[in-house]
Amino acid sequence: MKNSNKSAKILLVDDEPVIRETLCLILKEDGYEVVTADCGAVAISHAQENNFDVAIIDLKLPDLEGTSVLHRIREFNPSVCAILITAYPTTESAIKAIQEEAYEYITKPFDIGHVKLVIKRGLEEKHLEYENKKLLKNLKSEKSKLETMLQIAHAMSSILNLEELSNFIVDRISDVLKVNICSLMLIDEDEETLSIKAAIGLDDAVIRKTKIKLGQAISGWVAQNGEPVIISDIENDDMFGRANLPQYETKSLLCIPLKVKNRVLGVINMTDKTIPGQKNIFIEEDLRFLTVICNYAAIAIENAQLYGEVKNLAITDGLTNLFNHRYFQTHLQTEVTRVQRYPRPLSMIMFDIDAFKAFNDTYGHPMGDMVLSRIAKEIKKTVRRVDIACRYGGEEFAVILPETKLDKAVHVAEKIRASVEALSFETGKGTKKKKMTISGGVAYFQPGMSKEDLVRNADESLYKAKAEGKNKICVHA
Ligand code: GH3
Ligand code: MG
Ligand code: MG
Repeated sequence: MKNSNKSAKILLVDDEPVIRETLCLILKEDGYEVVTADCGAVAISHAQENNFDVAIIDLKLPDLEGTSVLHRIREFNPSVCAILITAYPTTESAIKAIQEEAYEYITKPFDIGHVKLVIKRGLEEKHLEYENKKLLKNLKSEKSKLETMLQIAHAMSSILNLEELSNFIVDRISDVLKVNICSLMLIDEDEETLSIKAAIGLDDAVIRKTKIKLGQAISGWVAQNGEPVIISDIENDDMFGRANLPQYETKSLLCIPLKVKNRVLGVINMTDKTIPGQKNIFIEEDLRFLTVICNYAAIAIENAQLYGEVKNLAITDGLTNLFNHRYFQTHLQTEVTRVQRYPRPLSMIMFDIDAFKAFNDTYGHPMGDMVLSRIAKEIKKTVRRVDIACRYGGEEFAVILPETKLDKAVHVAEKIRASVEALSFETGKGTKKKKMTISGGVAYFQPGMSKEDLVRNADESLYKAKAEGKNKICVHA
């Protein structure tokens, strides 16, 4: 629908050539675009190909009734403003006109000034109706945005898992803004790079690999400056202009910082806005909405990060960064319960540093701490991600190996023993370096065993290794 009535499109259907031609001429002089038809069939075919704002239809046509023609036209132009004209006004035809929801019913001979007025009024009302619909649509979309804001605000207090929270935010935002590609990036611990925590529309490999330095590219700039960036056309942008990347369908994008007070935690990137029949360029309103959401989201993310840190502190050993004794006990119980129910291989290794007391006594406790932390690093480096490496006690380590048979566990233990043997440790006494060794005991879970049985077996094997001369791995028979 056009804003100006004068550019409106009118379909004029009358079989009387004089009326048709004069009316056509007058309306065209007034600036309207007019298409004429001398019968119903032609009128219907015009309606199939055009979108008319107004249809002026004679009630008596050679082939069809004017009201039937209007009915058919509405199939193609549902919001057309219909003006019916007739030389033979009857109650019946007037009722039919009302039934067909005609805007006005005019009798011949008509006053041309009156016809013009009716068209003008009809168009104005139609325009008003259109504006109302638009307003209603906007209201609905505002309502959905408000609901999303509330949902995110609510999720803020209920989702404490950072990964789950990030996925939730990306999901909700992309849904409301109708974008196909959206990513949430957070600043890494090194405080120099951004990496993707959650995304839609991106390959897993891209999600894993992407690292953006602060200050670099759009997201890096946004993270460094704490200011949002809205781009209509990336290829013609003064600041960030570059060729559009092949994986993106549109050239418009939006990047917003996630800020708590003045600290930037990360950014949210969006592109490929896809609302059918629209230009799909981000507008100020999108930016406004997202800024509010990002304020909520940033607080929620900070909460989740703090929660994660506290949770980590509670299960981590401060000196070695391995899991602590408490975590070892609860995790081993989980694994044992699992294999008791669904029999699967499960092994564990217990290590103890050889002659560590002597090292401490000679070189001091701080040097001993360095040995502990270096050996812990070696253990962590050798085991798989699913294996749980713990500091069991003072200079004792335990590793839980799920889905691992005995021979494989012995192999891992031997590998760790050999790699520790290959290390040399600072002593703090000049350049003198010292060799250290560890002993290990391996145990395998057998049906009917408890967690305590498994640990005892590993401990007994370790004792055996010590008794047999240390720097050795023994297996429970
Ligand atoms: P073995 O070969 O039989 O294992 O002899 P060991 O000297 O290693 O064993 P022992 O149990 O006699 O001594 C363990 C030592 O580990 C005693 C203690 O000083 C040291 N230790 C325990 N925890 C820590 C720690 O957190 N830091 C340091 N530096 N030393 C520790
Ligand atoms: Mg010991
Ligand atoms: Mg020892």
